[in-house]
Amino acid sequence: MRRRPFRAPHHTISDAGLIGGGSGSPRPGEVSLAHNGVLFLDEFPEFPRNVLEILRQPLEDSTVTISRSNMTFCFPANFMLVAAMNPCPCGYFGDPTRECRCTPAIIQRYLGKISGPLLDRIDIQIEVPAVPYKELRSGEVATSSEEMRGRAQKAAEIQRARGYSNARMPTRSVRKDCALDETGERTLEMAMRRLSLSARAHDRILKVARTVADLDQSDSVAAKHIAEAIQYRSLDRNYWS
Ligand SMILES: [Zn+2]
Repeated sequence: MRRRPFRAPHHTISDAGLIGGGSGSPRPGEVSLAHNGVLFLDEFPEFPRNVLEILRQPLEDSTVTISRSNMTFCFPANFMLVAAMNPCPCGYFGDPTRECRCTPAIIQRYLGKISGPLLDRIDIQIEVPAVPYKELRSGEVATSSEEMRGRAQKAAEIQRARGYSNARMPTRSVRKDCALDETGERTLEMAMRRLSLSARAHDRILKVARTVADLDQSDSVAAKHIAEAIQYRSLDRNYWS
């Protein structure tokens, strides 16, 4: 009970297994077992589409509602979703050393398994290029995990003082807590237009920018913070371009 859970269910999981339910009295699913911790979904597009779509409710409300003919059950489900996927079914799209054998239609179908509305609810999307062998073998580290942990803890403290984590920031506070200067406003406006981002993505970018600023221990959200947050929407960018 003292350690935050880390759950990593396989993509063959049923919707009842992930969300909760089952025959007889409903049992909590992985989203509830990951409450206050991490739910890690590897091979994200391999999960059945209906299973992925039902993730939207707990992602939005932090609870899960299971309806039965005569009653309704509520389970807590305040988890951080972490998901990993390949750029294409063969895994080599964009790789400088190996050739991808997938057609554009196959890649589109693969990426299309993650719907726009689900993608919208994922704050940070980044491409991670394969690490070259030489770098893998060298002992040099840019930032140590210890250092990163220290920075993250400081940022968390700043957020605790504000009363909520940035991910849980109430909509009415976004305008005040994530106020932008003129350059920041222009940067965001341009990105919104060019990437045709939704209103939900707009608020999420602001919250991520607030976190980037907190990691920087900066009181205000500067243009560079908002620019970095926009960088973290790489799937949106590929998706709609
Ligand atoms: Zn491929």
